[in-house]
Amino acid sequence: MSAKIAIIGSGPSGFYAADTFAKKLPDYHIDIIERLHTPFGLVRAGVAPDHQGTKNVTRQFERTMQNENVRFIGNVEIGRDVSYGELKELYDIVFLAIGAAKDRKLGIAGEDLKGVYGSAAFVGWYNGHPDWVELSPQLGPDGVAIIGNGNVAIDIVRVLAKSSEEMEGSDLCVHAEDAIRRTNIKDFYMIGRRGAAQAAFTPSEANELGHLAHCHPVILNDDLTQAPAEDDPKDQKNKEKNMEILRGLASQERADKEKTLHMQFWAKPIAILGETNVEGLRLERTTLVDGRVKGTGETFDIKVSTVISAIGYDTNGFDDLPMDGSIVKNNDGLVEEGVYVAGWCKHGPQGTIPTNRKESMEMAKIAIENYNGPSDKAGPNGLDKLLTDRGVTPVDFENWKRLETDENNRAREGRVREKIVHF
Ligand SMILES: Cc1cc2nc3c(=O)[nH]c(=O)nc-3n(C[C@H](O)[C@H](O)[C@H](O)COP(=O)(O)OP(=O)(O)OC[C@H]3O[C@@H](n4cnc5c(N)ncnc54)[C@H](O)[C@@H]3O)c2cc1C
Repeated sequence: MSAKIAIIGSGPSGFYAADTFAKKLPDYHIDIIERLHTPFGLVRAGVAPDHQGTKNVTRQFERTMQNENVRFIGNVEIGRDVSYGELKELYDIVFLAIGAAKDRKLGIAGEDLKGVYGSAAFVGWYNGHPDWVELSPQLGPDGVAIIGNGNVAIDIVRVLAKSSEEMEGSDLCVHAEDAIRRTNIKDFYMIGRRGAAQAAFTPSEANELGHLAHCHPVILNDDLTQAPAEDDPKDQKNKEKNMEILRGLASQERADKEKTLHMQFWAKPIAILGETNVEGLRLERTTLVDGRVKGTGETFDIKVSTVISAIGYDTNGFDDLPMDGSIVKNNDGLVEEGVYVAGWCKHGPQGTIPTNRKESMEMAKIAIENYNGPSDKAGPNGLDKLLTDRGVTPVDFENWKRLETDENNRAREGRVREKIVHF
């Protein structure tokens, strides 16, 4: 009898775990259960459309799917179609890799105005996530403020500031491309509570800001002389590189670029202004007091029509799954006997695909060490019966491959695919 394993979520953490189980266990059946019709989590719906090289990681996941003991079961949501309790009764190992897709709130006045979006929603919109395709964000007439100093903030700036030609080879969805081309946004603001030396973005993303054909970056309120002070030598190196890149950006000629990226350091949002729609953003200058960011009391306003917060995400829990604030409650990845967790739902929205790969593989190895041998649980047959009884029609990997071919065939000129976004 084989080990019956359910992996919930088909992002990188789910697929790397599946690969580890398949390589290390002699006899197994793995069901990768996904709420969407499509696999690959944030690789499809988060990673920027002009970063196709990063998205190529899905080729590794495709290899895992060539294994006949691994099934992809899309369009099945745990908590809606099957309960957490039922999963535990059906499978020997339940491996949770459900990510973190809920936008964190800014917690300031005006957050409910039209024109305020979280980055999960906004990025989901331009990347064709079915939850967000109808977002129809307010873009213009004035600028866009993006709160946060990480890679997601830079992605959003790039996607909004690049011309159609610069998006050549991307898979930016047509509904987003049309909406972006209809606007003529001249000013983008990236707002960070801290300084350039502490910014969370990585050098490669920062570097791309210097290569935008129509958008000139301007660094505000930071003289770029502060030396980074990180505990981790790798972080220290990255931060030093960031500073070098930013100094390069600051000395760039403006040329005839008609758009401006205002990189506003040492400022925090305190209110979003407007009656019904966003008309501006009030910021307070900040400084460090005993190593902590504090407002100085000095405020200023910027004129924007859109505010996008890119300040992190929480995990959406379900039924009686134990939660610890914004993550799944766990003890070094163990949720309870036979249930494990990895990726963004384990530790929050930090880490790239490679860092999650390492963690997820290690977690799967621990699950294998703890595994007590096969049981008489109903496993995949039990799941199939439950789904049939409930009238749920799952999407398998062959269905997905047909959909993918369709998407490739529908691609507009200069685009690699046209995502199907309505199911
Ligand atoms: C905007 C953005 C850009 C990024 N760009 C990069 C980049 O360029 N390079 C890089 O290395 N990293 C990038 N990352 C980080 C990377 O995407 C994450 O490290 C990685 O996707 C985390 O993997 P995960 O499997 O934990 O979660 P996810 O990728 O979010 O996968 C979770 C999956 O679980 C599914 N799910 C959730 N709830 C349920 C449920 N109840 N039932 C069934 N299924 C469920 C979701 O639909 C999803 O498919 C980016 C992240 C974001 C947000």
